[in-house]
Amino acid sequence: MAADPPVPETTPGRMVPRPEGLNAEFYAHCARGELRFQRCDGCGRWRHPPRVLCATCGSDRYTWVRSSGRGRVHTWTVTHRAANPAFAGEVPYAVLVVEMEEGPRLVGNLRGLDPGELALDLPVVVELEPLSERIALTHFRPA
Ligand SMILES: [Zn+2]
Repeated sequence: MAADPPVPETTPGRMVPRPEGLNAEFYAHCARGELRFQRCDGCGRWRHPPRVLCATCGSDRYTWVRSSGRGRVHTWTVTHRAANPAFAGEVPYAVLVVEMEEGPRLVGNLRGLDPGELALDLPVVVELEPLSERIALTHFRPA
């Protein structure tokens, strides 16, 4: 197996995910600017995080189907003190769990809104930040 190519860092000192297997497939779609989730070919249920078998019907068949990119804030956390100095310039920042229109929940950073203005069920849209051909970070901004 070939070694991973170097992944550029947006800010020195930040860790960049190095996904493998089905997670690598998910992030490769994101790197191409497409948010896609597995959808079971057996029962139609959406899956995320990616997995081999459907939790509903047990099928191992699926298709990567494009998401609308729209969802609503399910919950969030706000960081006020950066544990990693590379994030010191961004505090306070919020990490969201968003329930997508298709049903899966996705984690991403908040953009375009002060964390103090967050609300449950706030409509948001995903924004993908490609870091390489293999990975993109997921962010959300108000819809
Ligand atoms: Zn299924």
